Amino acid sequence: MDYRKLGKTNVSASLLGFGCMRFPTTKGGEINSAEAEKMLDLAYSKGINYFDTAYVYHSGKSEEFVGKVLSKYERSSYYIADKLPCWMINSLDDAQRIFNEQLQRLQTDYIDFYLLHSLGKQSWDKMVEICVPEFCENLKKQGKIKYLGFSFHDEYKVFEEILTSREWDFCQIQLNFMDIEHQAGMKGYELAERLGVPLVIMEPLKGGMLASLPEDITAELRKANPNASIASWGLRWIGSLPNVKVVLSGMSAMEQLEDNLSIYSDFKPLSDEEQQMIRRLSEALRSKMNNGCTGCKYCLPCPAGVNIPKNFSIWNEYGMYQNKRIAAWQWKNNIDDKRKAKNCVSCGQCEEVCPQNINIREDLSRLQKELDSVVESLKASSK
Ligand code: SF4
Ligand code: SF4
Repeated sequence: MDYRKLGKTNVSASLLGFGCMRFPTTKGGEINSAEAEKMLDLAYSKGINYFDTAYVYHSGKSEEFVGKVLSKYERSSYYIADKLPCWMINSLDDAQRIFNEQLQRLQTDYIDFYLLHSLGKQSWDKMVEICVPEFCENLKKQGKIKYLGFSFHDEYKVFEEILTSREWDFCQIQLNFMDIEHQAGMKGYELAERLGVPLVIMEPLKGGMLASLPEDITAELRKANPNASIASWGLRWIGSLPNVKVVLSGMSAMEQLEDNLSIYSDFKPLSDEEQQMIRRLSEALRSKMNNGCTGCKYCLPCPAGVNIPKNFSIWNEYGMYQNKRIAAWQWKNNIDDKRKAKNCVSCGQCEEVCPQNINIREDLSRLQKELDSVVESLKASSK
């Protein structure tokens, strides 16, 4: 296993971290504890020492499960990362109550890496207002947490504001070869590197989309290395960045864990030639977008309540990755019915301001039909 030192800490973390949010589950949706325990045991035995959970993962069951399994091992031989759910915190009493519960669920008296979960502009402002960073500093002084960081989902300028507001021990961002300009993106990576803040990475495979790519892209990757899994390219790309210290993978099957272990046990950064190939294939993927929406939001608000960029982002990702299962899931769960394209009343005001000159009305109508039919075709094939 490859290990990397996290900034100014004394921690050498395994480059592959175990994301504890997608354990295998039973038909009833509970954690399949027999299978998941085998995976955690194998991960530990192969040198993974960074386990990342959160108060809300698996509907609140992940912490308890991780705590139970890991308590078999010497506490100082692994690191637990856990997160304070900022959206549930309205006072320091809330923060204290949840933190105490987390220690109890994890069967431990300290948490190694503690994160403010999923910060964006609004939640950060709220945390500052109720003095949560100071509360966490105090936990650190008491030895109840060792290192303080945050996980992030918002625009770059918010990332810059949060990252430069204080001295963080580490932070966690979403980054992969298709999201270099999304959220913190590569600009955020470079800022963290300049400030000496080590990075933990989530969604290195974009929620699984980079593990299953369209046929033409897959064929090129197979040609470059017939023995490498498709996922391995994304995992090697992210691991090739020196300020990436831990790559979290939310593993839900033993084969996935074994494949990830084989990549990170004898880690080989991408060669210059491979980097060039990935850049070329990312461009080829981007060219499969259905339209050129950049997500700038100039077209909002829409008087009919349509979330135009969100509709386009789901449709464009479907165009790029051609993954019916993920597209159907997003269309059902990631956008409220009231915000869908079908609510457009064709007033035309969005088209007047769109800098990309997109035929928004026409595209909305197309995407509603196309994504509805993806959902229907999956329903029919599962009968
Ligand atoms: S044309 Fe449709 S999507 Fe655009 S602003 Fe009007 S109602 Fe909203
Ligand atoms: S203004 Fe155009 S490019 Fe910007 S989010 Fe709206 S549709 Fe997309």
